Amino acid sequence: MNENKEVIFRIKDLKTWFPITKGAFKKVVGHVKAVDGLNLEVYKGETLGIVGESGCGKSTFGKTVMMLENPTGGQVEFNYGGEFKDITKFSKPEMFEFRKKVQMVFQDPYSALNPQKKIYTSFEEPLKVHGMNTREEREETMQRVLKMVNIQPDYLMRYPHEFSGGQRQRLCIARALEVTPEVLICDEPVSALDVSIQAQVLNLMKDIQKELNLTYLFIAHDLSVVQYMADRIVVMYLGNIVEVADSKALYDEPLHPYTQALLSAIPVPDIHKKKKRQVLEGEVPSPIHKPSGCAFHNRCPHCMDICKTQDPALVHKGVEGHMVACHLHDETTQTS
Ligand code: SF4
Repeated sequence: MNENKEVIFRIKDLKTWFPITKGAFKKVVGHVKAVDGLNLEVYKGETLGIVGESGCGKSTFGKTVMMLENPTGGQVEFNYGGEFKDITKFSKPEMFEFRKKVQMVFQDPYSALNPQKKIYTSFEEPLKVHGMNTREEREETMQRVLKMVNIQPDYLMRYPHEFSGGQRQRLCIARALEVTPEVLICDEPVSALDVSIQAQVLNLMKDIQKELNLTYLFIAHDLSVVQYMADRIVVMYLGNIVEVADSKALYDEPLHPYTQALLSAIPVPDIHKKKKRQVLEGEVPSPIHKPSGCAFHNRCPHCMDICKTQDPALVHKGVEGHMVACHLHDETTQTS
């Protein structure tokens, strides 16, 4: 998409389907197609926001990219110093090494830390697993990452319940940083926090990114948070991308009717500004029985005949890097 930027992840035709079984012999009678044929490039050092309604597949996508879910098909290639390797084909030792490069920050900081263990133990374990053999080295690393998230080193001897939600999420970020990753996959990292704490954690994440040149995959349903964090945004609907663009281009000029409806739901903090809300009609289709043609056609106010039979391709439109999957913007459709 953009030739000047270095690609860190190259994702091709990625599918993550979950089987639906029936009867004593667990016969497979269908699939939930959480991610269904997704193509994407992620650039080094960027924050890529991933948005969409609940059930659109954004969290499954994040987990599949770091192989916490096994993909049903497709490739996830990671950049190893210029050479792309498909991580879906990695052996156990290769996957062990890959885990150091990509870490995850989960939504719920309350369940991400073991309540029965002191922070010291929770922080020491991953370092031991990844071969940091001396105690001095481990303690030096723990203190370094705690400093990054503004938590005092002596707090290591405390239990998780002694911390507030914001402090726990900062601890989770620090633990993810221990193994010096290149990519952090952040799955709704601030949605369990109070609004006043959210800004604090987001600013901290921005500072850490700048300091360590990290790449973030930032999954969220709060579009204001994504606008604040992301350089580029991917909009997902029923397991696939419907629009991808730079953050500014997407918020200024959304092209896909689904993106337009999502953005129209963001509240405007000015009582003098009136904004027309686009309310989507119809039910969200099941990912088990996806509609034919455009998956959004039963809710789209601009639906045409072709939309019911032909799946629109993701095509370039507008400013560089802006892509949309909609027959309204596909010139080959218009002329055919
Ligand atoms: Fe609407 Fe058709 Fe575009 Fe789908 S392809 S979003 S149904 S106009």
